[in-house]
Amino acid sequence: MGLSIGIVGLPNVGKSTLFTALTGTAVDASNYPFCTVDPNVGVVPVPDDRLERVAAIARPAKVTPAVVEFVDIAGLVAGASEGEGLGNRFLSHIRETDAVCEVVRFFEDPDVAHVTGAVDPVADVETIRAELVLADLGTVERVLPKLEKEARADKGLAPKLELVERVRDRLAAGDRAMRLRMTPDERALVADLHLLTMKPLLFVANVDEEHAGSEPPAIDGEPTIPICAKIEAELAELEPGERAEYLVSMGLTESGLDSLVRAAYELLGLQSYFTTLSDEVRAWTIPKGATAREAAGVIHTDFEEGFIKAEVVHYDDYVVLGGDHEARAAGKLRVEGKEHVIEDGDVVRFHFRT
Ligand code: GDP
Repeated sequence: MGLSIGIVGLPNVGKSTLFTALTGTAVDASNYPFCTVDPNVGVVPVPDDRLERVAAIARPAKVTPAVVEFVDIAGLVAGASEGEGLGNRFLSHIRETDAVCEVVRFFEDPDVAHVTGAVDPVADVETIRAELVLADLGTVERVLPKLEKEARADKGLAPKLELVERVRDRLAAGDRAMRLRMTPDERALVADLHLLTMKPLLFVANVDEEHAGSEPPAIDGEPTIPICAKIEAELAELEPGERAEYLVSMGLTESGLDSLVRAAYELLGLQSYFTTLSDEVRAWTIPKGATAREAAGVIHTDFEEGFIKAEVVHYDDYVVLGGDHEARAAGKLRVEGKEHVIEDGDVVRFHFRT
């Protein structure tokens, strides 16, 4: 299950400022065994009002949110695909992430130099796209000769060869690999190439203070979140109680980071379900469409392997009726088998064999 998002962008666009602000809201990664403990990784809670509402009913000792990981990936400059800057090391760091969040500078500030001399979001996006596309083209061209040879001996490889050739043509035309329409099966065929431009992509437009919270400028047809990294950095230093006041004073309803984290979760195709115990109410992350058995496996492999049944209450029923017992009494607690598809916000209790 993908959770890790690499922050990339040219130098001086505000990546570190954004990352520092994100880590200001970070949680202790050791509570999440699947997360990486590393100074370049911030484990950030996914804002979710529903978790608070469920907790207000279940009144547990502890409330544990879902999280995503942000990885600060420094060092992307023009020429990275040919080894400039951190070059290949930088590219291998992106390869390990599930999605890419590209920070684009929109803010004007005479005190902050721009790498090419002028603020030009379109040109910056183009520079990074070119580097990533070139890196992928290099990968594909390294793989193709071997694949051609193998396909001559094994006719079963013909579809893969044909697909990789199409990917190569796309990349050679300067497009991201994701622009090639592929079925899920086709995508699985090229997954082992770990192409950078196949990863889901999200842009952060780092805007001036006065443009924070305004309609995002569309970038390259991909989702774009407008953020003023400077405001976010200031917010991160405030006590939680003061943050809301500061946001209101800036005319904002939620922090840019909250919208970013939510958008990232969405981009990765993730959703949450909740478990309620007296000692802990917790949001668990599953891919959309996950079955009850798969959802159980996110808690523990024993839950998945010994799965017997899941008791499921829809979030709305849980909140309106006021808890598990009330939902059961109202006939709204359903007992489901392993193939049942869990919905976003379901409150679930698993029964399993040990
Ligand atoms: P990075 O090289 O992409 O990591 O960029 P940094 O986060 O180090 O930011 C470069 C400079 O731009 C720093 O001096 C930041 O304080 C400044 N900066 C970052 N975001 C903003 C912003 O939204 N507005 C303004 N005015 N300055 C910013």
